[in-house]
Amino acid sequence: MDFAGNSKKTGRPTRNKKQFNRVGHNLQFYKIPPTGEISLQEFEEYAIDRLKVLKAVEVAGIRLMKGSSEYIQKLQDELRKTSLGHDLIRTDKKEDKDFRQKDLVSHFILRLAYCRSEELRRWFMQQELELFRFRFLREGPDSRDEFLRENSLNYEPISDDLKTELDGELRAAAGSKSGVVDTVEYFKVPFTEVFDLVSKRKVYLEDGYAYVSRDDMISIVITHYRSHLSHSLAVTTRALPHLEEDGRLLPMLCGLSKRYLGQDFNAKKSNVGEITADMIETLSKKSFPLCMQQLHQSLRQNHHLRHGGRQQYGLFLKGIGVSLEEAMRFWRTEFCKAMDVDKFDKQYSYNIRHNYGKEGKRTNYTPYSCMKIITTNPPGPGDFHGCPFKHMEVDMLAQKLRGQHISKDNVEKISKCVKTGHFQIACAQYFEATHNIRNPEDSASININHPNGYFLDSYKLLNGPKEGTKPVPNTPKVIKVKVEGTGTPSSQTNKQSDLNDMDDDDLIASMETDM
Ligand code: SF4
Repeated sequence: MDFAGNSKKTGRPTRNKKQFNRVGHNLQFYKIPPTGEISLQEFEEYAIDRLKVLKAVEVAGIRLMKGSSEYIQKLQDELRKTSLGHDLIRTDKKEDKDFRQKDLVSHFILRLAYCRSEELRRWFMQQELELFRFRFLREGPDSRDEFLRENSLNYEPISDDLKTELDGELRAAAGSKSGVVDTVEYFKVPFTEVFDLVSKRKVYLEDGYAYVSRDDMISIVITHYRSHLSHSLAVTTRALPHLEEDGRLLPMLCGLSKRYLGQDFNAKKSNVGEITADMIETLSKKSFPLCMQQLHQSLRQNHHLRHGGRQQYGLFLKGIGVSLEEAMRFWRTEFCKAMDVDKFDKQYSYNIRHNYGKEGKRTNYTPYSCMKIITTNPPGPGDFHGCPFKHMEVDMLAQKLRGQHISKDNVEKISKCVKTGHFQIACAQYFEATHNIRNPEDSASININHPNGYFLDSYKLLNGPKEGTKPVPNTPKVIKVKVEGTGTPSSQTNKQSDLNDMDDDDLIASMETDM
């Protein structure tokens, strides 16, 4: 790909020649990299569009059983919410081929962004394979055959005689779907191409060959795609150092995996009305996510929070609708239980005004997303910021949850998610447990990406939408809260100073007041 001039400054592409290679089928193995021109602005837009698609795939896959009708419905709904995903699953797209190029280019951009580490590669492959499977199964039989032909996956069906001979074995392997043996063709393939079917005992095996029905051909296709994608990612990793010469692309590519794609929850957009300092205590018990409860409790206990905690909590409060005046009143009341007003005004008030854009560069800072909290600036000793699901020891977390009277089953479910690294899913399960949500449909609709999103969903669930505001989409309707008790802070070690997200003013404020 070529990247047309500096469109960042003007906000417009300077050239608009997109002569990409032609893509012949709706589906691709993305074997040939795109050649053509694209502006930097388009480059970023394409990357974000595909990232939204892959995140939608991830969300549907974590909460629901893959292949189930609920999963298919959820994935379809999630994909339709994104512009690229909407195009990728359209069935009336025969005449509109533009999406194929966007599909191709966006895939290759994310390949660049996600080849940098084993973890990123695994995530990218998982979502791309699942997206491919979903799209392949939506194509009609002719289109699937055409795709197989184009990619030299020409398997010959076994003869009718052989099929009759193996009838009993094929029916036994098909289990409850044994009726398909009468209607679909079977293919004889090396068993190494269908490991997933072998492990589920869904195929008949003989002499190292598996007999696969046409309905299960997707397993063979996925095996080929997996092997191709894995190899391609390794090749891309080796080519990555060349990209470092281009100072325009690398920062964007490196930041993609941590990018938050949802609402920014700027205070101006808060639609629950103004929150006063006096309301914070009650709200913290009912509607704050665990990360903010922890910060609130340690502030109440110690009458102090270090810089990381003040930033995370202060911006969250701003995002839920606490004005600068109320924020000042809130922090001053708490801090002045352990220091005099003069000291507070000298050392801490600047930082609070700074967060509201009243000092320094006057930037209107936005609250931190879950991704940012989870991936940057881990808490050290004496810190209370971060995400408890990520940064707290699992045993301590379980103890804290039991202290909040969360049932044994739910504590186990949450701990399991934490152990497998699904911190936001654990948080969603915590939301369900504390809001008494039992309906699986409602559960599937809860996605936690942002502490302020958590607050908003909880607030609306408990209070109903404020008059004149739109209801939160997909918000469950059950209303009952049982968050109680206070917890103990996590024992945190390994503090790393991460100043990536601070500008000079942040840094100065931090150095002046971090104690
Ligand atoms: Fe807070 Fe997000 Fe962690 Fe939940 S997942 S505790 S909202 S950072």
